Amino acid sequence: MSLQIYINGEFHDKENAKISVYDHGLLYGDGVFEGMRSYSGKVFRLEQHLDRLYESALAICLTIPISKEQMALDVNKTLQVNSLTNAYIRLVVTRGSGSLGLDPNRTSNPQVIIIADSISLYPEEYYQNGLKIITASTVRSHPAALSPRIKSLNYLNNIMAKIEGLQAGCVEALMLNHKGEVAECTGDNIFIVKNGTILTPPKDAGILEGITRNAILDLAKVLGVVAHETTLTRHDVFVADECFLTGSAAEVIPVVSLDSRPIGQGKVGAVTTKLMAAFKKLVHG
Ligand code: PMP
Repeated sequence: MSLQIYINGEFHDKENAKISVYDHGLLYGDGVFEGMRSYSGKVFRLEQHLDRLYESALAICLTIPISKEQMALDVNKTLQVNSLTNAYIRLVVTRGSGSLGLDPNRTSNPQVIIIADSISLYPEEYYQNGLKIITASTVRSHPAALSPRIKSLNYLNNIMAKIEGLQAGCVEALMLNHKGEVAECTGDNIFIVKNGTILTPPKDAGILEGITRNAILDLAKVLGVVAHETTLTRHDVFVADECFLTGSAAEVIPVVSLDSRPIGQGKVGAVTTKLMAAFKKLVHG
């Protein structure tokens, strides 16, 4: 059976799951989304993902046509219909189709799309040996222009940085904010480890407040590892002992060099290894 895609309460074969070319999600990137994972049939931190989705929508004046409770039921139903237990879930809400022209008031029907599929973002080798990343020259969106806290369908800022990374042979790239401070990577949050303490940029550094990031901060507490949200510069990354990235798709992945400079010993560090194991245990219950 073909993968079943949810659109506005109905399921369609993957091949026939279509929305209008007049949809402002396509025409202008006008919409919001979430990327989540399910483990053994349970969506990891579904409530937090839905809170973020509805907050992103609120921030762009988009009214999601169904309640959060209904959305949670529909996400789970999409998994069940596809007999998926360990999956990646992409939840998209677009402004809907309208006339050509930016005016969101001329759209009438926000589209709610749920795709449950598998994803393998990075090969296993990267988890074992760590990523080499570069600093992108593309600065993270200025929070006063478009807040990085909104998970919107307009991802060009991140994509331009991703292209820089790929052109340098790296699958991820570090993005600095408009003040030159470390913000995050193109699709992942960043952490460093210094003298046994884990450090990550604060919410107001111009980042998406990752659900995985917050899970790591919670885990650190449980493990008795000191963690702080604090302003970081590239210098802090260069002199760090360890570095790792977090995201729903990537989970927890080590970084061993920045701009061709090894971080610490240039190997996956002990604290990172401990957190990777703890995260695996957490998500697999
Ligand atoms: N930053 C950005 C820009 C992202 O797109 C994502 C999600 N892929 C993250 C951070 C990580 O967020 P989460 O842990 O909630 O997936």
